[in-house]
Amino acid sequence: MRKMMLINPHPPGRHGEESITVIVQMPLNLAYIATLTPGNWEFDVIDENKELALDEKEENITFKDRKIDLVAITAVTYQVARAYKIAAVCRKEGIPVVIGGIHASVMTDEVAKYADAVVVGEAEEVWPQLIKDFEEGKLKKIYNGGLPPLSKLKNIYPDRELMKGKYGYQFSSIITTKGCPNACDFCSVPTFQGRKFRERPYEDVLAEMEATTYKGLMLAEDNFYGHSVKSNERARNLFKGMVERGIKKDWLGFTALNISQDPVVLDYMAKSGNFGMLIGIESTNEQVLEKMNKKTNLRLGVHQYHDAIQRIHDHGLVVWGSVVFGADGDDKDSFKKMTDFILNNNIDILTFGIDCPFPNTPLFHRLSSEGRIFRKNFPTDWKYYDTAHVVHRFVDITLEDFINGMQYVYDHLYAGDNLRTRFRNSIKTMGNPRNAMFAFRVGNDWKQVFEQVLENLKELYNAGAYYK
Ligand code: SF4
Repeated sequence: MRKMMLINPHPPGRHGEESITVIVQMPLNLAYIATLTPGNWEFDVIDENKELALDEKEENITFKDRKIDLVAITAVTYQVARAYKIAAVCRKEGIPVVIGGIHASVMTDEVAKYADAVVVGEAEEVWPQLIKDFEEGKLKKIYNGGLPPLSKLKNIYPDRELMKGKYGYQFSSIITTKGCPNACDFCSVPTFQGRKFRERPYEDVLAEMEATTYKGLMLAEDNFYGHSVKSNERARNLFKGMVERGIKKDWLGFTALNISQDPVVLDYMAKSGNFGMLIGIESTNEQVLEKMNKKTNLRLGVHQYHDAIQRIHDHGLVVWGSVVFGADGDDKDSFKKMTDFILNNNIDILTFGIDCPFPNTPLFHRLSSEGRIFRKNFPTDWKYYDTAHVVHRFVDITLEDFINGMQYVYDHLYAGDNLRTRFRNSIKTMGNPRNAMFAFRVGNDWKQVFEQVLENLKELYNAGAYYK
């Protein structure tokens, strides 16, 4: 029997979404790889959020004694420099390495320099062939899995138990759709998953939900409600199916504020155990949204946000607002405006990202052509492409004002008693203590992430790299 090591790399010391303990998720991609592997293989896994794959000096793998035949690593951009380090040590030990994930799909030539094989796109269609080639000693450099229809996942369920057995995860993501027809300038989803909105038949999703022992589920896509009347109907059927089949999960997902106009879907969501939804608010300034090309928000209109949020709260569901700071058009007044907006609308959770030009996005190409990206010692600097660091120079604000603005948001939403006050407001506006407590716990964990972002900003300021 051969043995495969599945690795989720993590830059030591980083805090990000993965630090939100209440929804710590097992690495879904790796669980799929275990399921898709044909023949006689045994699996082990290292999630570097839990244990490291390299020793302190980063010269040796920590799993030398486990007789591994093949290492498979998944990586998004901020993880990739760490992935390359792990790959280099594995290859020095004579263990071949395959790398897949978003970064491999958008920066394939770069990844190919550090791996024996690269999986581009989605693995379902090519992984069995890759394993066959490996077993026959004919591993190719690139395997392009494309973007297959999600009906192909009908009976392919990721091996979540493998991950649970080792690390005791309580939360997992689940795929119900992929892709996005929009093209927000900062987003890698249209590049990585395509602009066709691929929908998985809802009956298949329900069957997978019934089959998993995980009580906590995160819908993996960026907008589970969808972009058309037909996809809205599909979402209603999915949650209705959960209620009718008695599938009670602690679940949440990403969507857009237009869902607020559909009381039927909100009702099914509440009844099926939904905590609430993450919504990409991004900005309350329509000029900034125009520049980002954030069409979903512009279609609804910023003037409608208040009413939309209220309708979601009326169903007892959390509004988790996700915003971008530092986009072109943001100036030193933006931070107070956003803070007032969060407080006036009783938004239960605020998380944010610093505007980040992920590779091969329209934003990356624009900022590169304007000569504004200063973190470009690749691949090492990819670790800064995590929305917790500044990687480009702003045009409408100085770095000092940006740091002061971020501190203002922290002081008024997170510091001192603010989280507890917001928790009490959440209970009042939602009338749902369970969901308000969920929001409070997320906020508490995000406070640590926020503190690290402030540290990162001060470090950048002190190092002087921004103005060089
Ligand atoms: S941010 Fe959301 S709406 Fe915009 S392109 Fe990405 S997935 Fe689509």
